Amino acid sequence: MDEIVNTAQKGAARNLARKLLKDAKIVNLPVSLQKVLDFLKTKTNLQIYGYGFSEKVSGMLVMIGDEATIGFNNTQHWHRRRFTISHEIGHLLMGHTCNPVDKGSPQETEAHQFAAELLMPLARLKQDFKQTENLDELSKRYAVSKEALTRHLMECRVI
Ligand SMILES: [Zn+2]
Repeated sequence: MDEIVNTAQKGAARNLARKLLKDAKIVNLPVSLQKVLDFLKTKTNLQIYGYGFSEKVSGMLVMIGDEATIGFNNTQHWHRRRFTISHEIGHLLMGHTCNPVDKGSPQETEAHQFAAELLMPLARLKQDFKQTENLDELSKRYAVSKEALTRHLMECRVI
């Protein structure tokens, strides 16, 4: 398990998320995925659809030629949907090919890190965390689940 995780390019994935925020000129919180998607649509042939997937499927990315389609589970909580879409954007930008769900794979780790950084830019989060350690308040501010917030804080060794 550790070996697999170690091969994931976490730093590169986070940097890519930071670059995307910068390129899409996003400064406000919560990060507007609409703005992110609008920006991406000027660069790529991207479609996005919500589906009533089963609980086991949060999202998917389908590439046909240069056409990318992101499907997300629209029965899940708004915060979860935001994370799912961000995760799939990560796969898209990192050129990952579509694979069956494999939670421990480097590609999944990278997409996770990308999504976490996109929705919770670390530099910003660190500042906010200094002001309040109230996770409920922070999860509202970033429009992410408390679980995703806690995981990001821990992975970035803030807590
Ligand atoms: Zn994935």
